[in-house]
Amino acid sequence: MKLYNTLTRQKEDFIPLIPKKVKMYVCGPTVYNYIHVGNARPVVIFDTLRRYFKYKGFEVTYVVNFTDIDDKLINKAIEENTTVKELAEKYIREYLIDVRGLNILVDETINPRATDHIGGMIKFIKALEEKGFAYNIDGNVYFDTTKIKDYGKLSKKNPDELISGARVDINDEKRSPSDFVLWKKEKPGEPSWGSPWGKGRPGWHIECSVMIRDILGDTIDIHAGGEDLQFPHHENEIAQSEALTGKPFANYWLHNGMINVNDEKMSKSLNNFFTVRDVSQEYDLEILRFFIVSGHYRKPISYSRETIHQAEASLQRLYNSKIKLQSLLEKNPSGKLDDAARMKLVSFKSDFEKAMDDDINTADAVTALFETAKYVNSYFDESTTKETVQYTIDTYMDMANVLGILYKVPDEEISDVAKQILEKRNEARTNKDFRLADELRNQLLDMGIEIEDTRDGVKWKKIN
Ligand SMILES: [Zn+2]
Repeated sequence: MKLYNTLTRQKEDFIPLIPKKVKMYVCGPTVYNYIHVGNARPVVIFDTLRRYFKYKGFEVTYVVNFTDIDDKLINKAIEENTTVKELAEKYIREYLIDVRGLNILVDETINPRATDHIGGMIKFIKALEEKGFAYNIDGNVYFDTTKIKDYGKLSKKNPDELISGARVDINDEKRSPSDFVLWKKEKPGEPSWGSPWGKGRPGWHIECSVMIRDILGDTIDIHAGGEDLQFPHHENEIAQSEALTGKPFANYWLHNGMINVNDEKMSKSLNNFFTVRDVSQEYDLEILRFFIVSGHYRKPISYSRETIHQAEASLQRLYNSKIKLQSLLEKNPSGKLDDAARMKLVSFKSDFEKAMDDDINTADAVTALFETAKYVNSYFDESTTKETVQYTIDTYMDMANVLGILYKVPDEEISDVAKQILEKRNEARTNKDFRLADELRNQLLDMGIEIEDTRDGVKWKKIN
């Protein structure tokens, strides 16, 4: 399996630290608001990678942090007339609702909160200070980037860019503009913790380094996040962690591209974002997940009503094949597993794995699923043996499970008789026997089932 490593700017074979085990960390949300569609991309993509590792028999330790102390939280808490702690609790709850809607393996995810690791952060900063990598100026502690020879190795920025790109709060106190804050001195009314440098709170970058070390150890396999985090956040995580331990921090750095709206990056600062919650009012979040996995994760994708509608229709096509298979499974006769079908399915699955092995090319993996659907639609009918149908549905769902889609069970309240009529009507339409199709549509209506023919297949709903 190859992964594109931002650190080396090339695709590399994935070799885990411990055979068949993966330690993986994805930078998580700052919990002061609902997440937007751009935030959903790393959430979905790296969950898909985790699912693929599991599919290949790896044991995955998967960590996504919550940044629950930060300027943004402090300001929003004032705005909402609440405490930082309550605000964080609220948006952690909302985040978990959204990511469950996106079919993320929430129950297999470790979600540490920054404020539960303050003690570890203080120890970490203290050790950096003792080693000469940090300096204290009147209660603010900074990391000394000039002590790091390879500072900038991830983002490949030259020293001038590192300085001009550093956070704008350029502050005369710092020895060098690219130095960054590890510990911030208390300001009146802000949450604070006692430390050797007086009361204060941690800077943002130190949080991830400490949670990673506390939970996963000095070196991890994969560190992932949005490409906008490469600099300064990830660069600074590397600097401080490697300064402390003298060991490589993460062997593979994975970054996803941005989601654009009208050719501009979707972001809170541009105010062109849609929250996942907004989207969920109009569409099933499975459609958003499918939209995200339909593109290659490192390329930008465009979000619009049209692209979401396309995703909705395509997903429905995949569901239609699943429904067809389930219906055939119920009524078809037993017999031998058809060898030609088996070989065809093996080749679809091998295409799927090849795509996923090539730097998680989910776009091509989705194509393999469509090829399977097309094959089922063209060649499967009442004469296909139950064994062949079962083998196909297993293969189909193995692939769908990696992508985290097609997990919904169709409305169980539709009786078998109704399903059979629906199937007959599909056949009638395929044979262009529209008179029969209309007759069957009326039969379904009499049973309280309304059907709608879309460009991409049939949808039904129950009516009273
Ligand atoms: Zn981080």
